[in-house]
Amino acid sequence: VKENGRNDGMLYCEEWDNSSLERLTLQHELRQGLQRNEFLLHYQPQYHLNTGEIVGLEALVRWQHPERGMVPPGHFIPLAEESGMIVQLGEWVLEEACRQNKAWQDAGLKAVPVSVNLSIRQFMQQNLIEKVSSILRETGLSPQYLELEITETMTMDVHRATQCLLELTKLGVGISIDDFGTGYSSFNYLKNLPIGKLKIDRSFVRDIQHDPGNASIVAAIIAMAHNLNLQVIAEGVETEEQMQFLKKHMCDEMQGYFWSPPVPNYQIAGLLR
Ligand code: C2E
Ligand code: CA
Ligand code: CA
Ligand code: CA
Repeated sequence: VKENGRNDGMLYCEEWDNSSLERLTLQHELRQGLQRNEFLLHYQPQYHLNTGEIVGLEALVRWQHPERGMVPPGHFIPLAEESGMIVQLGEWVLEEACRQNKAWQDAGLKAVPVSVNLSIRQFMQQNLIEKVSSILRETGLSPQYLELEITETMTMDVHRATQCLLELTKLGVGISIDDFGTGYSSFNYLKNLPIGKLKIDRSFVRDIQHDPGNASIVAAIIAMAHNLNLQVIAEGVETEEQMQFLKKHMCDEMQGYFWSPPVPNYQIAGLLR
């Protein structure tokens, strides 16, 4: 076990090999982990670029495995997706994030939306809308304080995606496109989708200083988004220079290690005063 150097207290366990036995074991452990409540959420603050205020929190799932320690999502989300377990896990994440956000609001902390990552499997579920609305009803969280992050791939079936997003929007939930720039979205149909925000993928942000091509892509995405009346958030902001560039190009919000890594829920109260 070695530290991953991301200073969010997370450890990388030994690399899992891809043998089918190992995968079966892990699937079994995932199912068990859900029953035994081994999952938890960390939250990464999102900041308004000009005021520096926290304007949102992204919920990121962690697995506190009894033997393997803290397992990062990159190690189990793909398997959870493949096996379909992501639907159950994703519902747990959604409910936990809503419940937690409502509890923070009830405790008198500053009210901000919580962003939850949706997997394509969840997005394709026929009962997604009912699921979301019943979770909102049961937790008592007002819909404006929930934002769902989808990826470009999920919008490839434009007709279906538009229907689904319209219904979510009708509920009052916010929608953002995650990892923007890495998928296939054409700007042309983007304008017809009921979304509120683009999240510029970290790969573009990372190379702003060294790759003039990426710098112009970032600037172009921001300008285009604003023309379409969308908000823009940059993810993976790690340096002062990246932040200055984003400010200069009028990006709205940012998220990244430069301001804060994802943190456990008990640290949020200190941040949301
Ligand atoms: P993502 O949605 O793109 O989430 C952002 C990832 O970037 C997080 O990794 C976060 O810790 C990391 N990050 C944040 N700031 C920085 C930075 O400044 N520099 C760098 N290098 N990284 C930064 P994490 O938590 O390991 O999550 C990885 C991916 O796992 C997420 O990528 C998302 O695709 C998936 N994931 C996490 N939680 C969930 C979940 O509840 N449901 C689903 N379906 N997927 C999830
Ligand atoms: Ca995300
Ligand atoms: Ca992302
Ligand atoms: Ca990503």
